[in-house]
Formats: sequence, C-alpha cells, structure tokens
Amino acid sequence: MLQDLFINAVVLVAFVAVGNHFLRERNFGRSSPIQYRLLFGVMSGLLASLLMAFSVEIMPGIIIDYRNIPIIMASIIGGLPASLLAGVIISLYRFLHFGATNVTLVATIVALTMGLCIPLLEVKIKSLVHKWLFSGFFSVVIGTIGFLILVKDHTLLLQLLSAYWIGSLLIALMLGYYTNTLAKTNTMFRKYKAESSLDFLTGLYNVRQFDRIYNDITERIVEKEEQLSLLFIDIDFFKHINDTYGHAEGDLVLKELGRVLKNTCRDFDIVSRNGGEEFSVILLDCPPEKAVLIAERVRSTIESHPFSLSNGETVNITVSIGISSYDKDSMDFDELLKQADRSLYKAKQTGRNRVVYENAE
Ligand code: GH3
Ligand code: MG
Ligand code: MG
Repeated sequence: MLQDLFINAVVLVAFVAVGNHFLRERNFGRSSPIQYRLLFGVMSGLLASLLMAFSVEIMPGIIIDYRNIPIIMASIIGGLPASLLAGVIISLYRFLHFGATNVTLVATIVALTMGLCIPLLEVKIKSLVHKWLFSGFFSVVIGTIGFLILVKDHTLLLQLLSAYWIGSLLIALMLGYYTNTLAKTNTMFRKYKAESSLDFLTGLYNVRQFDRIYNDITERIVEKEEQLSLLFIDIDFFKHINDTYGHAEGDLVLKELGRVLKNTCRDFDIVSRNGGEEFSVILLDCPPEKAVLIAERVRSTIESHPFSLSNGETVNITVSIGISSYDKDSMDFDELLKQADRSLYKAKQTGRNRVVYENAE
C-alpha cells in the first residue's frame, strides 16, 4: 500500500517545487491579501483532489491518500481561510465523486476539522519543521479516527493505518525541511534581487537599474512618440562636506538628498543615484519647458532644505542640474545622455547652484 501511495508523494513534491517558482518573488504568507490566501486555498484543495484521484481504494467507496498534506500546506502558508477552503474543496470533490454516503460524511468532517484546527494550533509553533511535524501528527490522529469509524476489518485497518502514519509523517518531515530551505533561499533571492537594482545607501535605483530602465523607456518612446527629459544632478563642493564633517555625515546628507529628490519629483519619475554624489531623474512624458520648471523646483528645494547631521546640527548644500530633452529629429538616446552631461558641466562652469538646459547644436 505504501508503494501505491508513492505517486501521492511525488505529486506533492512536484507541486511544491513548481508552486515555489511562482511564489518566490513575493513574500507570500498569512499577512498577504485575503484574495491571494483564498486562491492558495483553492490551489491546495485542487491538489488534494488530484491526490484523491491517485488514491488507493481499500474497500468499495473508501480510499486512502495524503490529502491531509495540502491542508497543512494551505494552513502554514495561507492560514485559516486557505486551509478551511481546501477542506471544503476536498469535501466537495468527495461528494461529487462518491455521492452523499456515510463515508463522504465522515471524510467531510475529517477534512473540515483538519482545515479548522491545524491553523489554530500550528500558528503557535515557531520553527517551520516543527509546524510540519506537529500538523502531520495532528492530521493523522484525526484521519485515524475517521478510519476507525469506517473500517472494521482489523488486519486491513492495521495495514492502512501504518501506510497512513508512516507516509504522512515522512512526507511532513521531508516537506518541513524542504520548505524551510526554500523559505531561506527565497528570502536571499529577493534580497539579492533588490540589492542588484537599488542603491544600498539611499534606496533609490542604482546605475545598473538606471541603464535598464533607460533602455526600456527609450524603446517605448520611439514607438509612442512621447516626450522625454533627463536631469543630471551633482552636489556642489560635496568634498568639502566630507572634509569638514566626515564621510559618515556625508552619507547622511546623501540619504536625505535621496528623500528630498523623491518628494520633489513626480511619483512616476525615475530617480536614481548614478554614483557618488551624482543623481539623475528621468522625466517621463515631459517637454523641455516643464523639465526646466521641475529642475528649478528641485534646485531651490535643496538649497533651502536643512540637512540634519547625527549631532543635531544642520548643513545646507546646493546642487547643479544639467537638463536634456529628447528631440527625435536631431538626436539619439546616447546623445540625450551626453547632452545632460554637457549641461551639467556648463552649470558647474558658470557658477554652480544653477539649472542649465543646453539645446542640441
Ligand atoms: P563639484 O562642485 O565640482 O561637484 O565638487 P565636489 O566636491 O562635489 O566634486 P568632487 O568630484 O571633487 O568630489 C566628490 C566627492 O564626493 C568626493 C567623494 O569623497 C564624495 N563621495 C563620493 N561618493 C560618496 C559616498 O558614497 N559617501 C560620501 N560621504 N561621500 C562620497
Ligand atoms: Mg561629481
Ligand atoms: Mg559634486
């Protein structure tokens, strides 16, 4: 019987591996929106139904499988709404497949009891492996009560209960370790992914992400014929801040500047730290006249903003801003970057703390 149930175990592991592929980008769990948790409950219920389709029939109308495992999975990942919904779907499948019999009634009570009780009990356990083991144990106790009510042949009962206990506990243990490893690698995956696109100090996009977004946007601009402007922003005499207050205090100023830039630009503008004390803003769907206004707003906001240091003192800084604006008749997107650089250079040359928009020659 244990061999016959092997296919159940294989389906379960395959489901976890494939499911993880879809969920690893999101930190999915009990605090996720209810609709996603319910969707996870539906998926778990369908998985359990699949296991029931590959079940072993021990007596007419009485089948054995590891449908308890998807209920545990629904509980640990989606909480009570998910596991209860999985229990309901299991009961529905049983009813549609075998009709309204006494066995269906017992199977329904067993599935709903698992769906209801497991999330209320396992939530108190911290370790993922222990959650799985405890829930596995609890579910086989409930399932065993169901079998004791339905099966009177002692030899058969012994045979099926040993397959049920050994199989369920082994799968629970294995999935406990497997999901524990997956949870850790998923957290690392999300962390590294975020770090590969965000600047660690300011939380703005880093230069790599700036390049990716810039390439995406410029492809789109050509198709849609939208306007596009760029701001290159460089802090004036930032070396002086470092020399006077130290590098750590300079970092605080950079962080604060990141926040000020985010707050001063429009929500959909792309603000990046392109390196050191150099920042950029991609202004989407923005003609040059408007870019000049936004740049001037950024410049004057920074000029009047008190930047706090760790000892409570504040310092003032200024920035120079170079603007470029895309003109489809006279430039390509490389030229747009070079033009912003030239404008910034001119802003520095002509006295700093100013905005320069150099028209394409
Ligand atoms: P300018 O007005 O010509 O731009 O003068 P500047 O001093 O801002 O320019 P310069 O290129 O001479 O110096 C840039 C300084 O930025 C030097 C460097 O120590 C500092 N810097 C670069 N990256 C960081 C960082 O991550 N943290 C801190 N605190 N300082 C940084
Ligand atoms: Mg610089
Ligand atoms: Mg500078």
